[in-house]
Amino acid sequence: MSEVSVYIHVPFCLKKCSYCDFYSTNALSVLPAYVSSLQREIEGRTSLSGTPGKAPKKTGTIYFGGGTPSLLPLESVEKILETIYARYQVSQNAEITVEVNPGTVDEPYLAGLKSLGVNRLSIGVQSFDAHKIKVLGRIHTIEQSIEAIGVAKSVGFENIGLDLIYGTPGETREEWIKDLKMALKFKVAHLSCYMLTLESGTPLQAQYKKGLFQLPGPDMLTNLFMATAIFLEQHGYEHYEISNFARGKQNRSRHNSNYWQMIPYDGFGPSAHSFDLLSSKDQDAQNRDARNKDAQGRNIMKSSCLSLVRSWNIADVNAYITSFDGSAGGGVREQEVLSLPQQMLERVMLGLRTSDGFDLTEFEQLMGPRFLQKIVPLMARLEAQELGRVTPGTGKRFVLTLSGRARLDNIVEAFADIIL
Ligand code: SF4
Repeated sequence: MSEVSVYIHVPFCLKKCSYCDFYSTNALSVLPAYVSSLQREIEGRTSLSGTPGKAPKKTGTIYFGGGTPSLLPLESVEKILETIYARYQVSQNAEITVEVNPGTVDEPYLAGLKSLGVNRLSIGVQSFDAHKIKVLGRIHTIEQSIEAIGVAKSVGFENIGLDLIYGTPGETREEWIKDLKMALKFKVAHLSCYMLTLESGTPLQAQYKKGLFQLPGPDMLTNLFMATAIFLEQHGYEHYEISNFARGKQNRSRHNSNYWQMIPYDGFGPSAHSFDLLSSKDQDAQNRDARNKDAQGRNIMKSSCLSLVRSWNIADVNAYITSFDGSAGGGVREQEVLSLPQQMLERVMLGLRTSDGFDLTEFEQLMGPRFLQKIVPLMARLEAQELGRVTPGTGKRFVLTLSGRARLDNIVEAFADIIL
């Protein structure tokens, strides 16, 4: 049986950060009801071990994301993990990650997570610059970030990742490299470096509209992106995904790598997304169910191969909880079936984000040799401009160079023009 990844969305935050447009709430009073609903959702969508004819799915990665998962009391983490272990065949060496906000953790909490089997922490440090932290509206101080990293190490976490943000108002290349140098001091396994984007409806965007600050222009952002990759590679971090760096392949995020390889995942909790592959039999039923979607302009799968289905839960914790009142099902899921070209573009887009690129043989199998010929001139052009290359050897893949990754959006658009 093929594996899935398991994702738990924890939609609680103490305070909204100035740049964030993710769904989250500070209504912590509903946290116990959320946990019960989450357990119900997991139970409703999976099979219990030993159910005749229904083997539980296998999983090798469990990820608590948010929001702020470290607002979950240890008892809640335990309950959720128990439910997952009862409903999935969890591999012995499963990667179990919890995202933590440095302003919400202490030694007993991190030691507790460790004793529950959590073996990877993703710490939302964002920056070691006090001014930047203030601009981003984070709830924690630099001292708390440093403390959280130290405590995580002292209680035995070896697999630690730090999240950092760059491209903030007025940030210079030197300031950003100084931030990175500070992060290097902790010798953590993984670094995620995200470029700040101005999301609509956020306080940061409102300040920008009032002209309170200027953002770095596109050339400066490209400069920062390239500087990040070069600097971190010089210091032993493999640039394996556009925003992600690992100290060696063994420290790549297995959970997120599964996303980029389009391995199915089951997402639970308000606003959580799931992704599944349907067999031809399921697909027939799916296509019948999806007739209404056609009227909404969505593509319906016509091919005889596996179809790809994306689904998502309602982004409202109260509606999510209510949906489980007295009913077996809940979560209020919506879904979308991707057409073959959409599926292919997704593979190309996700592949081009990574140092592994996308698989040309798979492209040929899914789309046919004539279609592969259509993208050959584009790949040749990118190769001539030193933006991409076909890897040598039997398993041919097309990968972007660093300069190519700096122009990812334009390159994906060029592939989309041919594929869709
Ligand atoms: S802690 Fe994370 S999810 Fe919560 S508001 Fe800040 S950036 Fe958004």
